[in-house]
Amino acid sequence: MHFVYEANPARVVFGAGSRARIPEELDRLGITRAIILSTPAQAALAGELAREIGQRAAILYPGAAMHTPVEVTQAAMNAVRSVSADGILSAGGGSTIGLGKAIAFRTDLPQLAVPTTFAGSEMTPILGQTENGVQTTLRSSKVLPETAVYDPELVVSMPPALAGTSGLNAIAHSVEALYAKDANPITSLLAEESIRALGCALPEICACPQNLSAWTDAVYGAWLAGVCLGTVGMALHHKICHTLGGMFNLDHASLHSLMLPYSAAYNREATPEAMQRVARALNVPDAPEGLYDLMQKVGTHKSLRDFGLRESDLESAAELAVKNPYYNPRPITRDDLLEMLHAAYEGKRP
Ligand code: NAD
Repeated sequence: MHFVYEANPARVVFGAGSRARIPEELDRLGITRAIILSTPAQAALAGELAREIGQRAAILYPGAAMHTPVEVTQAAMNAVRSVSADGILSAGGGSTIGLGKAIAFRTDLPQLAVPTTFAGSEMTPILGQTENGVQTTLRSSKVLPETAVYDPELVVSMPPALAGTSGLNAIAHSVEALYAKDANPITSLLAEESIRALGCALPEICACPQNLSAWTDAVYGAWLAGVCLGTVGMALHHKICHTLGGMFNLDHASLHSLMLPYSAAYNREATPEAMQRVARALNVPDAPEGLYDLMQKVGTHKSLRDFGLRESDLESAAELAVKNPYYNPRPITRDDLLEMLHAAYEGKRP
């Protein structure tokens, strides 16, 4: 057994109602004048947190947008300067947390993240930004939030459709962690446990959205999946989702949710041990089929056709996805990729 394991230092406060601890957690980070970030849709939550933290709230900035556009970051930086903010409180999903990271990258200000989806960005030192339609990704310890407060009561407002796709997006981090180039026993333990927790919780949430205990399990699974994403490298699944998402401007979570069974099937023969662990976590005989059944239950889009793509788009996506070589347990060829995309286009059982 040979491996390198490097943990990302982050403090996690977990549990229903734990947002009540945000003031003391801000004090712990020495934050006295916070900029509070959210999307426009979650401005009310940001306002509520501002009231709870009292004088530590310096300014609200409810302008976060998908894929962290640089223009939005620049406007938020003006707000930071205007009040001499000394810390960042990000309340929302991956888009809001991405904006907090973009500000931290430029200022090194401490961040407290309050995630409200299962995206997992709060656990990673990764920042994706978009400028003039081009997305770039960087890794820096500066962007990793110092503290994350996971309060399942703040996640329950997700519509079940978003919860299902966001949860499958989290499972995708864990599935790929199990066959990552730099996979290690610790991350694999976290990955399997996260798939187990999310695999049980997501159908329950969609069937009975009042069940706080299912939401809590899902938040726990999403936290672990975020740790996996931040610790080891990803492969085909993340690459093809970035390619398709970037080319056709498709919703992040729904695309991950649809593609996961197909990317797992692509790697099925090449990674028997990883597949066995996914199947064990989902309590099913076959991993890609189990992921497909879960996607059918809790996903929104059941085929690439449902996204409005044309069959001719698949070729250009396959061409682009093979342009830059990247790690995957099974070699990636244009023809194999195209076959996978056709299966996803039809929504076939993998
Ligand atoms: P999101 O943050 O874009 O949120 C989607 C929508 O749902 C927004 O309108 C938001 O306001 C709303 N929303 C969020 N939580 C809600 C809640 N509890 N109740 C009601 N509405 C809610 O979506 P996301 O999937 O969390 O994040 C996607 C973005 O995060 C992408 O840009 C992706 O690239 C990025 N991401 C980055 C990393 C990383 O490590 N850098 C990891 C995962 C995702």
